[in-house]
Amino acid sequence: MDEQIKSVFKCPDLQFERFYTRVLDQFRPLPPRRVVCYFDDQSVCCGPSERGQFVPLDNKNNRICWPDDVRKVLRDEGGNLLDVLIYLPGSTCCIGDAALFVMAFAHELQHFVQWASSPDALNASKKLSLPLGASTWDLPHERDAVIASKRAAAAVIGPDEVAEYTQTQIGVGCPHADYWAFFKCIAPHEQYDWVRETERLSTQKKHTLLG
Ligand SMILES: [Zn+2]
Repeated sequence: MDEQIKSVFKCPDLQFERFYTRVLDQFRPLPPRRVVCYFDDQSVCCGPSERGQFVPLDNKNNRICWPDDVRKVLRDEGGNLLDVLIYLPGSTCCIGDAALFVMAFAHELQHFVQWASSPDALNASKKLSLPLGASTWDLPHERDAVIASKRAAAAVIGPDEVAEYTQTQIGVGCPHADYWAFFKCIAPHEQYDWVRETERLSTQKKHTLLG
């Protein structure tokens, strides 16, 4: 196991530990930063529609009120904060659904890669205002994370299982059917330069404001 990755599995499902390694393999080489992955059996600090969180552990973000169990693992033995927390709630990793676990973990890992490689673009993408009717996944960094999660899931559990899972989420009455309809249309090997797209949209916004 990589020295810079610490993982806590609160959910006692060995199957997920196996998938965990395989998802990580899709993102190697990982950025040389210290990350803790916390797979909770509770669903705290996440909204009902959130499947996971990527949290850089600078002082500001660390003021989020994490429960003691999580706070305990955010520091190294010398008491220094690690760089990043990837948190998956129990509603993602304890419901026995491998596809959801794999996609959610891969999605947050891609945010980790974005943060380490292009922090300014990530901040800029988060600040873009969405046109009326758009969804958060239309932001460049989110679209990029969705593409990466679909690609990783196809490699780890197979494209047929991904398609099957996606289809079950689009049915009538499913709470996040619009997200999964978007996900279904994403090509896992789509060439998408989210940094360039962020620059383009930021420039467009400046011109609109000036014009
Ligand atoms: Zn995201």
